[in-house]
Amino acid sequence: MLTQRSTADVPAQAGAAWLDGLWHRSLAPQIHRWRIGTRLAAMMALAAAVAVALTAWGVRGLGESAESLHRVYQERMKPVRMLSQIAQHMLANQHQLQMALARLPLSGHPSTGRSAAQLDAATAHNAASAIERNVQTIDTLWHAYVERIAPNSAEQGLAERFARKRADYLQLAMAPALAALRNLDAAQTLERAASARQYYERANEDIQALIDLQFDSALAAYETGMLRYQNTRTLALIALPTAMLALGLLGLWQIRSITHPLRAVIAVFHRMAQGRLDSAIAVPGRDEVSTLLNELQTLQYRLADNERAIHRLAYYDVLTDLPNRRLLRERIEDALQTRTAPLAHRALLLLDLDHFKTINDTLGHEVGDELLRETTQRLQAVVQPPHFVARIGGDEFVVLTGALDTDYSHALACAHALAQQILSALAAPCQMAGHTLHGSTSIGVCMFRPGNATIKELLKRADLAMYQAKSEGRNQACAFDPAMQARLEESTALTAALHQGLQNAEFSLHFQPQVDAQGHPLGAEVLLRWKHPQQGLIPPSRFIPLAESSGLIVPIGHWVLRQACMQLKVWEAERHTERLELAVNVSARQFRQPDFAMQVVQALQETGANPSRLVLELTESLAMEDLDDTTTKMELLRSHGIRFALDDFGTGFSSLSVLRQLPLQVLKIDGSFVRDIASHGGSAPIVSTIMGLARDLGLQVVAEGVETFAQHQALRTQQCPCFQGYLFSRPLPLAEFDNWLHASISLATRDQP
Ligand code: C2E
Ligand code: CA
Ligand code: CA
Repeated sequence: MLTQRSTADVPAQAGAAWLDGLWHRSLAPQIHRWRIGTRLAAMMALAAAVAVALTAWGVRGLGESAESLHRVYQERMKPVRMLSQIAQHMLANQHQLQMALARLPLSGHPSTGRSAAQLDAATAHNAASAIERNVQTIDTLWHAYVERIAPNSAEQGLAERFARKRADYLQLAMAPALAALRNLDAAQTLERAASARQYYERANEDIQALIDLQFDSALAAYETGMLRYQNTRTLALIALPTAMLALGLLGLWQIRSITHPLRAVIAVFHRMAQGRLDSAIAVPGRDEVSTLLNELQTLQYRLADNERAIHRLAYYDVLTDLPNRRLLRERIEDALQTRTAPLAHRALLLLDLDHFKTINDTLGHEVGDELLRETTQRLQAVVQPPHFVARIGGDEFVVLTGALDTDYSHALACAHALAQQILSALAAPCQMAGHTLHGSTSIGVCMFRPGNATIKELLKRADLAMYQAKSEGRNQACAFDPAMQARLEESTALTAALHQGLQNAEFSLHFQPQVDAQGHPLGAEVLLRWKHPQQGLIPPSRFIPLAESSGLIVPIGHWVLRQACMQLKVWEAERHTERLELAVNVSARQFRQPDFAMQVVQALQETGANPSRLVLELTESLAMEDLDDTTTKMELLRSHGIRFALDDFGTGFSSLSVLRQLPLQVLKIDGSFVRDIASHGGSAPIVSTIMGLARDLGLQVVAEGVETFAQHQALRTQQCPCFQGYLFSRPLPLAEFDNWLHASISLATRDQP
C-alpha cells in the first residue's frame, strides 16, 4: 500500500515542483513587475471585456437565428398562402360551375340529351358573379406574388410557366364559361366546366411546384437559422465556462501572487519575534508586497546590526575590545557548572597594573588608554585559547584558564607558569608619548573546580591574592590560600570594632619623650593607643592600616591632633613644660583631605596652642606621592609657624632635589639604622651621610629607636642633637609622662653644677 501510494505521489510531487518552478522562474517576476492595484484593475478589465465579447457574440447569434426564422415566415410562408389562395379560388370557380349545373331541372339536363336545356337564372347569375370576383382576386394575388419574385431565379421560370397556364385558364376556360353561364346555356356550361377543370388541373400542377419550391427555400432558411442558434448555444456551453475557468485561474494566480509573499513576510516576522535575524528574503519584483519585503530586508539588516552593536557594547570593552566583566561572569558561570568528568582544576588570574593611577595622573589619560591597549595586545599574545582574557575595569584584567589538570599541584604549577609568562610580557619596556614606561603587574591566582565556589568567592579570592602580591612588593603573582581569607575576615571584624571604638572612646594617647644630647626633655611624639574591650591593647601597626583603608583615620587623626593641641596649651601654662614640643603623626589619607590644612589651623585656634610647638610627621612616601599638593599644604601650614618632620627617613626613596623643595625642618633617622649603628660594619656610614645631608639642608635631626648606650654614644659621636627611644623612655600615658618629666627635671637640676 505504502509503496503504491508513494509511487503515485512521485509524479504528483514532480508536477507540483514543476508548477512551483514555473511560478518562481517565469511568472512571479513578470506578475510582480506590476503593482497589485494595476494587476487587479487589469484583471477586472479583462473579465469585463470577456463578458462583453461573450454577450455580443451570443446576442448576435440569437439575432441571426431570429432573423432566419423571420425570413422563413415573411419571404416563404406568405407566397405559399397566396399560391394556395389562387389554387383555392380556381377550385372555387369549379365549384360555382358545378353548383349552377346542379340546379338544372332534370328535363333540361344535357345528360338527358335535351340540347335546349336552360340553367336556373338566379343560380347562374350568382355563380357568374362569384367567378368574376374570384378571377379578380386571383389576379390581385398573382400580381402581388409576382412582384416579390427575384429575377433570374428558379421561381421566376416556374412563375412564367404558370402565368401562361393561368392566362390560358382565364381566356380559354373561364371567359367562355362565364359567357355560357350568362346565356344560361347548360350544355355550353357543362362543356366549359369540363375544359376549365382540365386547365385548372394543369395550372394547379405549377402552383404546387411553386409551393414546393417555397417550402424548399423555407427549409433551407430554417436550417440556417437553426445552425446559428446551435452555434450560439454551443458557444454559451463551451466558451462561457472556459472563459470563467481561465479568469478563475488568473484570479487564483493573482491571489497567490499576493498571499505567497505575504506568507513570506509573516514567516520573517515570526523569526524576528523569536530573535532570529538571519532570514533569507527574496524580493520577487516591484509591487507593493515586494516593496514591503524590501523594507523588511532593510529592517532586518538594521536590527541585526543594532543587535550586534548592543551585544558588542554589552559584552565587550570599548577601549580594548576585550570581553568585559559581564562576559567573564558568564564564562566563569559556565566553567563552574561544567559537569564532565574528570573534574580538572582551572585558575582565575586577576591582574592589576602597578602604579597605573600615577601614570594616568602624570602623563594623561591618552597615555593611560594607550598603555591599556598595549597591555591588551601583549596579553592576547600570551593568553591563547582555551584560556580567556577579559578587562573588568580600570587597570584590572582577568584570565580564566581552560582545564589545567586533575592534580592540584600540577594545575597550580601550570597557572604559575602562565602568570610568569604574563609578568615578563608586561614587564618589557614600552615607548609611549615620548616616555619609556617600565610597567609591572601584580597577579592574584585562585584555583577552582566546577561546583566548589561561587563567582563572588572566586573574584574575592583572586582579589585578596592580588593584594597580597601588591603588599609583597608588586610585579609578582601570588596564589590564594585560606589563611588570607582568615586574615581578611579578621581585619573586617577589626574595622567594625574600630568604628565602635571611636564612638566608645576606646582610644588614648601615649607620649614618648624626645631628649637632647644631655638627656634634657625637648618634647614628645604622640602615639595612638587602642584598647579593644575583648582583645586588650592592639598595636598601631595592626589597626592604623585598617583605619587608613576604611577612611576612619580621618576622624581619628583629627581627634589626635586636637588632643595634642590641648596638651600643648596645658603645658604652656607651666614654666617647666612651656617650651616642650609635640610631634603628631599624619597619615596619607588624612593629609590628602582637601581641608587638612584648615583643620590643623582650626585645631590650633580653637585650643589656643602655640603653632611653633607643633611638629607634623609625614612619611617619605606620603610627601613624594603628590608633590604639588604636599608642597602647597606644607607651605600654608608653615606660614602659620607649624613645623614638619620627615618620619622613618632613609627607608624611602626621596631624592635630594625634592628634599630641598619641601619646607622641612626635621629628619627622623629610622630606627632600623640606629639599631646596628654601634655594630662593626653596620649603618654608621649611612647615618653619617644623613647627618651631612641634614647639615647641608639646614635640618634638625632626631634619631628614633635608641635602645642602648652604645647606640646613643655612636649617635653622639656623629653630632646627633636629638634622641627618642626606649633608652630614655617607652611611650607613656600622660600621668606617667608627667612623672617622667618631673624625674628628669629634678635629675637635671641635681646634675647642674
Ligand atoms: P612611628 O611614627 O615610627 O613611631 C615610632 C614607633 O617606634 C612607635 O611604635 C614606638 O613605640 C616605637 N619605638 C620607640 N622607641 C623604640 C625603641 O627604642 N625600640 C623599638 N623597637 N621601637 C621603639 P608604635 O607606637 O607601635 O607605633 C607604630 C607606628 O604607628 C608609628 O610609627 C606610626 O607610624 C603609627 N602611629 C602611631 N600613632 C599614630 C597616630 O596618632 N597617627 C598616625 N597616623 N600614625 C600613628
Ligand atoms: Ca612618627
Ligand atoms: Ca618613625
